[in-house]
Amino acid sequence: MPIATVNPANGETLKTYDALGEEEIERRLATADATFRTYRTTSFEERARLLHRAADLLEEDRDDVGRTITTEMGKPITQARAEADKCAKAMRWYADHAAELLADEDPTGHDVEDSGGSRAYVRYRPLGPVLAVMPWNFPLWQVVRFAAPALMAGNVGLLKHASNVPQTALYLEDLFLRAGFPEGCFQTLLIGSAAVEGILRDPRVKAATLTGSAPAGRSVASVASDEIKKTVLELGGSDPFVVMPSADIGRAAEVAVTARTQNAGQSCIAAKRFIVHQDVYDAFTERFVAGMKALRVGDPTDEETQVGPLCGERNRDDLAELVDDAVEHGATVLCGGERPDGPGWYYPPTVLADVTPEMRIHQEESFGPVATLHRVADLDEAIEAANDTPFGLSSNVWTREEAEVERFVRDLEAGGVYVNGMTASHPALPFGGVKRSGYGRELSGHGIREFCNITTVWHG
Ligand code: NDP
Repeated sequence: MPIATVNPANGETLKTYDALGEEEIERRLATADATFRTYRTTSFEERARLLHRAADLLEEDRDDVGRTITTEMGKPITQARAEADKCAKAMRWYADHAAELLADEDPTGHDVEDSGGSRAYVRYRPLGPVLAVMPWNFPLWQVVRFAAPALMAGNVGLLKHASNVPQTALYLEDLFLRAGFPEGCFQTLLIGSAAVEGILRDPRVKAATLTGSAPAGRSVASVASDEIKKTVLELGGSDPFVVMPSADIGRAAEVAVTARTQNAGQSCIAAKRFIVHQDVYDAFTERFVAGMKALRVGDPTDEETQVGPLCGERNRDDLAELVDDAVEHGATVLCGGERPDGPGWYYPPTVLADVTPEMRIHQEESFGPVATLHRVADLDEAIEAANDTPFGLSSNVWTREEAEVERFVRDLEAGGVYVNGMTASHPALPFGGVKRSGYGRELSGHGIREFCNITTVWHG
């Protein structure tokens, strides 16, 4: 894949970049290694000061960087600016909480007398340079939710961003430098995916985190495991959105539209499968389809646009093939479903009913504004349908019955259960999945500790 900015709204190539050569990669790895040796000894106060400064700069830059994001991956401009704001908020959250999240654990609390010791405690120490392989769909947020905790923990970051967002990737390196982080704390490596293995095998790189597809995750995790290095994987999702009879159907349908189409549906935590109890199926479907049809699709630079183009031609082809396959196998198209003519990689908000297990869309992730509807007879069937996927990222359930909520929380195979609302990440809440959605957690205390050496300190 060439490293280039190609505008998804019209297919125009605006800027291309040469990948870094071996010498430059070596120089950057050496810089990361050298910087880590001193940066690791800095105080939380100093790191927090720098991260707050980065948040200030990002807020000042929100319009410019928002435009860059929209140009590179097609997100509507209002959503691009909101992404910048969310990143600044996460930076501040980690700046304010890291010291407490990584404080020595139980400094006097462990009873270790039977080990012959007087006291013991746990200290969270940084690991070193961490490689982050990141996707284009939230080109700032995916990186910041790695970088903010990593930098606060005393690690340094090496970013291999998706090849279609090079300007956003370079912006991030520049942002951390302008904020005052020493050179080498956060570096962008403009490289293709083939160069990842060599970097990951380098002994100076201690761990890796990847957000993206299962094949990319498998590839990075197998190299890392061969090198005995820690990984966190945040892969795809096919989140269920379950609607039970006691739910506020109007509100559920309204939120369902946003949950499926935000970022043109290119989100791992987007609700993708709408599992609706038969008693409210017709009422929900009518409102949901009306909402999907009413969305304003078009030029992502227009302030009024709600759904822009998909990020690339291949991505639109993949999505259209999933829909075509479902239709060939008997799915009913309630709206959308046709690839439009004309420039740009647009795809209309689409709702499919009568989806059956032999259709590819039943098992694969649909990365675009395409929803599938499933009618169920009771709670057991709803849970069974929700779990009938290789993925397990998050889930959404709509009900006013406490007993039903408890069943969902007990039985859904997912890293999150969002009740009467849609899944959204928040710095204070762990984020990640089970099954083919990956392992490990980002954000919260769990996220910042993933790349720490959990050190036992024992006193005789
Ligand atoms: P990829 O998984 O291919 O890309 C994500 C990142 O991984 C990019 O930086 C990419 O680099 C890199 N990468 C890809 N293959 C390898 C590899 N073998 N070794 C090392 N790094 C690699 O996502 P796509 O953009 O191709 O999207 C395909 C599908 O993946 C989507 O339809 C969706 O289902 C899923 N996806 C999920 C995301 C999520 O948020 N969980 C985000 C994006 C995609 P490069 O760009 O240079 O190829």
